[in-house]
Amino acid sequence: MKVFDLIQMTPEQEEIIGLARQICEKELMPYTAELDRAGRYPVEIAQKFKDAGLYALEVPEQYGGMGIDNTTNFLMAETLGYYDAGFGFTFHAGSMGAECVFVGGTEQQKQMAADALLEGKGFAFCLTEPACGSDAASITTTATRDGNDYIINGNKCFISGAELADYFVVATTIDRSLKYKGITLFLVEKERGVQIGKHEDKLGLRLSPTNEVIFDNVRVPAENMIGAEGRGWGVVMKNMEVVRPHSMNFATGIAMRAVDEATAYAKVRMQFGKPIIKLQGLNFLLAEMLERTLVSHGALMNVAYQLDNGMKLNGAGSAVKIYASQTASYVASKAIEVLGGYGYMHEYPVEKLLRDAKIFEIFEGTNQIQQVVLGSLLAKD
Ligand SMILES: Cc1cc2nc3c(=O)[nH]c(=O)nc-3n(C[C@H](O)[C@H](O)[C@H](O)COP(=O)(O)OP(=O)(O)OC[C@H]3O[C@@H](n4cnc5c(N)ncnc54)[C@H](O)[C@@H]3O)c2cc1C
Repeated sequence: MKVFDLIQMTPEQEEIIGLARQICEKELMPYTAELDRAGRYPVEIAQKFKDAGLYALEVPEQYGGMGIDNTTNFLMAETLGYYDAGFGFTFHAGSMGAECVFVGGTEQQKQMAADALLEGKGFAFCLTEPACGSDAASITTTATRDGNDYIINGNKCFISGAELADYFVVATTIDRSLKYKGITLFLVEKERGVQIGKHEDKLGLRLSPTNEVIFDNVRVPAENMIGAEGRGWGVVMKNMEVVRPHSMNFATGIAMRAVDEATAYAKVRMQFGKPIIKLQGLNFLLAEMLERTLVSHGALMNVAYQLDNGMKLNGAGSAVKIYASQTASYVASKAIEVLGGYGYMHEYPVEKLLRDAKIFEIFEGTNQIQQVVLGSLLAKD
């Protein structure tokens, strides 16, 4: 029994997720340890997923895409996360990076983004700066009007998939003193002079490239603005409502993999004359790992249902972000314990799961910031 066997899907979901699993097993899984050591995103493997028609499936039907719902997109992210969260996150970030365009762009921008995605092009979302992470409304990257153009200046950091991207959705300010009311978004083509800086060397998620992005007098026409001047913050927040819980499915995929790896090991590792899975203390630990993993999965499916039905999340996005990310770290850490000393060795796959899991507590808005959001909901009169 594997955790996947407990997940119920519709026949359509089975078909698409089944295809993704097949490709993951054959093309990705045998190479993840080596790619993790090298810290490399395998473009050639990503191309195989694209050739199988698995890229940008969420592009709405009205713009020529498949328009899969959030539930199916979440299941896809969970599946990729099971095999390698860094690969899956980057593969999906390429298209989810365009989400701001679909949230706040003009019809022309949406069609342009859809066409680019359907050709296999990638987008990167650039908000974070060296001095502004959680306090994102204080960003310093400026957009200055010059005739029918804007000139963008500033440095972004920790940008996922930047070195693979053809397009950048960049958050700028037209006036820092306006704080979030000054935030203005632009869609910037790479060839306008976007420079890719330092490639970060990370603890985990090592198949996912993370780079600095430099805008040095990058000139863009005013029609590249997403929404209006000072309206970027609302678009970013609405975009995060979908992107944040979507990303947490990779974390749940990690937790599922940790349960499966630990269970398989516990069935063959003999101590005290029996497989360790027969020792109740250890069996209950595995049960607890499965319990938390299934709760994460269920909570994410509930959020997907709410999104698919146009319902307001009312804090559920923040709650599931905290829960799913903490669960991935907890379950991966416990998987190491199940494998004992072997679990601590690079030779076995579980230490990588813990390294990959940690980032989900930090990015997409840290867990502390999600607590601020939930706490302020409670403090409202
Ligand atoms: C691998 C990786 C990929 C990333 N990808 C992207 C990307 O594609 N695009 C992008 O724009 N960004 C990206 N980020 C940036 C990420 O979203 C930020 O790192 C994150 O938002 C935290 O910002 P910070 O690192 O500046 O930490 P800080 O904001 O400096 O926070 C430091 C600590 O202070 C806490 N803290 C801050 N404010 C509060 C508060 N009000 N109350 C309580 N605690 C608080 C934080 O929770 C944290 O523990 C990525 C980061 C990483 C590491």
